[in-house]
Amino acid sequence: MNLSGLRQRVSLAPYTTLKIGGPARLLTEVSTATQLKNAIRWAKKKNVSILVIGSGSNLLVSDRGFSGLIIRNKVAGIKTSGQNLIVKGGTLLQDLVDFTNRFGWGGLEKMTGIPGTVAGAICGNAGAYGQTISDHLIRVKVFDGLDEKIFSRAHCPSSYRESVFKKKKGLIILEAEFSLKHAVPQDLQVVSQEIRALREEKYPADLRCPGSFFKNLQAGDLPPQVLKKIPKDKVKHGKIPAGYLLEEVGAKGKSLGGVKIASYHGNLFFNDGGGTAEDFLALAENYRQKVKERFGVLLEPEVQLVGFESKPMGLLPFKKKCLP
Ligand SMILES: Cc1cc2nc3c(=O)[nH]c(=O)nc-3n(C[C@H](O)[C@H](O)[C@H](O)COP(=O)(O)OP(=O)(O)OC[C@H]3O[C@@H](n4cnc5c(N)ncnc54)[C@H](O)[C@@H]3O)c2cc1C
Repeated sequence: MNLSGLRQRVSLAPYTTLKIGGPARLLTEVSTATQLKNAIRWAKKKNVSILVIGSGSNLLVSDRGFSGLIIRNKVAGIKTSGQNLIVKGGTLLQDLVDFTNRFGWGGLEKMTGIPGTVAGAICGNAGAYGQTISDHLIRVKVFDGLDEKIFSRAHCPSSYRESVFKKKKGLIILEAEFSLKHAVPQDLQVVSQEIRALREEKYPADLRCPGSFFKNLQAGDLPPQVLKKIPKDKVKHGKIPAGYLLEEVGAKGKSLGGVKIASYHGNLFFNDGGGTAEDFLALAENYRQKVKERFGVLLEPEVQLVGFESKPMGLLPFKKKCLP
């Protein structure tokens, strides 16, 4: 079986919002579910490892790249089914938010401005301003390399930035069904506009970043000796922003090579031009250790790390000489 559209040694940097990353040994882009499944079957037959990506807005790809097949999923479409919406995984989340706002389906309007696809959002249980993609998810159709399977809501538990699809590799999201409540389109649009304005302050257009690098901490998970070091007014919706902890250890405005931390937000690491994955990790790891020393907690990356031989956070040697 040949795979049409297969390309070799393709730089992954343009396929990520960070614009960092070495080449994929193989890459293909798919626009139909049949193409997506064929690419997975082909890789299985050839014993090639695969990674399905959407818009690459939550990825840090190693400078060495990825030694298998990257499948870029562009299988998109939204249709109504009774009171529900069925959405293909490669649909842009923004297209879904715009659609729901226009036709008066409430529940996703605060997720406006999050880049990426619906499948990427389900994988990382993306969310913002108190809404997450899993809130109204009732069913997910996946392909496991052999068969299509339906995961009902009960079978795809999600928590803060986590999902069963992130934990169990090999479940490729084909489409998802959402049950949303009816709302007034104009009200939804007003909420989205307000959120867009807030987001534009944090994420200027074309900022080369993967969103927040580290996850926020759930206050309920932390032992009292850690909590007592954190002022109560810093706890927002039960979470302690990683940005606050990073700011307290002096991360804001620091840089290493072409990678910088925003001067206005300690958890916003971006590629200022010429940044490498190695610089990115070294800078992130340096401030993660400082947070650990000061507060006694180890921050966990929210960003998905691709193409690293071993679990890099914590194992990569710091570039001590040039660290800020
Ligand atoms: C400027 C900016 C702002 C952001 N703001 C937010 C925010 O407010 N909230 C938030 O939660 N996130 C935010 N993010 C992070 C990111 O946009 C989300 O995580 C997004 O949902 C990722 O979607 P994607 O299509 O880009 O996924 P990718 O980055 O391409 O992939 C992410 C993960 O999903 C997996 N995946 C993708 N498609 C499939 C599939 N079909 N089946 C199985 N697995 C799949 C990939 O293998 C990978 O593990 C932001 C990012 C940027 C750049």
